[in-house]
Amino acid sequence: MYDVLEIYREEFYRCIKCGSCQPVCPTYIETRDESMVARGRLALSEAVVEGRLGLTDGLMDRVSKCLSCMACSESCPTGVDVVKLLTAVRSQVVEDKGLDPISKVVLRVILKNNRLLSFTAKLMGLSVRLYNFLPSYGIFGRIIPFVRNGIKRVVPPFGGRHLRKGLPEVLKVEKPKMRVAFYTGCMTDMVYQDVGRGVISVLKKLNIEIVLPQGQVCCGAPAYYMGDRKTATELAKSNIEVFKDLKVDAIINCCATCGTMLKEVYPLLLDKDAKGVSDKTVDIQKFIADRLEIFKIRNPKSEILNPVRVTYHDPCHLKRGQGVVSAPREILKSIPGIEYVEMKDADRCCGGSGTFSLKYYDFSMAIGKYKAEKIRESGADIVATDCPSCQMQLTDILNRYGVKAKVVHTVQLLAGSLS
Ligand code: SF4
Ligand code: SF4
Repeated sequence: MYDVLEIYREEFYRCIKCGSCQPVCPTYIETRDESMVARGRLALSEAVVEGRLGLTDGLMDRVSKCLSCMACSESCPTGVDVVKLLTAVRSQVVEDKGLDPISKVVLRVILKNNRLLSFTAKLMGLSVRLYNFLPSYGIFGRIIPFVRNGIKRVVPPFGGRHLRKGLPEVLKVEKPKMRVAFYTGCMTDMVYQDVGRGVISVLKKLNIEIVLPQGQVCCGAPAYYMGDRKTATELAKSNIEVFKDLKVDAIINCCATCGTMLKEVYPLLLDKDAKGVSDKTVDIQKFIADRLEIFKIRNPKSEILNPVRVTYHDPCHLKRGQGVVSAPREILKSIPGIEYVEMKDADRCCGGSGTFSLKYYDFSMAIGKYKAEKIRESGADIVATDCPSCQMQLTDILNRYGVKAKVVHTVQLLAGSLS
């Protein structure tokens, strides 16, 4: 018997095999393979629950190629939480077979230790510099990874000065309107520091005091989605310990995946112990959009002279994970000089999905091609989004498919517009 899967036995049976998930699943759209859609993946998993199939490599291949984009659940008439169930399958595999040695070191040693994580990011930073220096043709084009048709993957610089390093635990302002905590997440702390600086700048300009706990750790998303529930739970406990007693009005984040972990997954892992933190967790766009009046941010359409065309890509974990859809659009439309254009299928997954794009680069690029085309068709100069993983993927696919739009986090545009 499989202990983890047994917990969800009844939930697997909620799938009535209607197929409503088929037309919206990016991995099905790309492969046209029934075993690459929620219905097929769940049917295989159900066979495991019933003892008709083992935890085979074939099953794991199908399950690990799910993007966790949740598009299937959104169109599911019986409300099956597909990502939760497929993550349970991964957890069962980790329980039974253990992690491979590299994942074990990364998830169980490095992710839990901020110093080691920082050191690893610095090593990665050096590798990225070397990678960017080497030519993408000739012998190097054949031996270095992620080169396709002579084009290298665009990788952001890792391991520069950490955002949190050197900043005080409390960033004070005079007569604060509110007091919030900032959960930065690893990518904002170590890779996209400009995004974190944008969050701080916006909050300070709005006269909000910021608590920036130095003891915060990785949200646990890489561990959770790879099936290492034990590590994800330990990281969740550490973060809850750090944030639970802070006297703040909200816990702000600017990464869709981190936000979904704190808000939606921590309660799954820790039940009511997570409530205080998950209830207060809010994405920066939603936090601001809900208070546009209070912050006196208005739509200044009449001031637009030479507008920059901006479109928006919905991160799956923001739209379907946290239900945030209108907030970033309202904010973009409120910024002087922006002409907002909606792209077609703005909520279709970009194909990044964290480590998915590392493990299955060609598949990830094939899925991303559709997104790149929709951005091109929108005619936008800038694509805004709210997730570092999407930022990284969008930058790469736009470069690969020759689309000349710049990718930024929404908060960077807002920060630049506030005086
Ligand atoms: S839409 Fe829901 S019920 Fe229908 S096949 Fe997909 S997962 Fe099953
Ligand atoms: S989460 Fe996304 S990739 Fe996975 S089965 Fe559902 S729609 Fe397909």
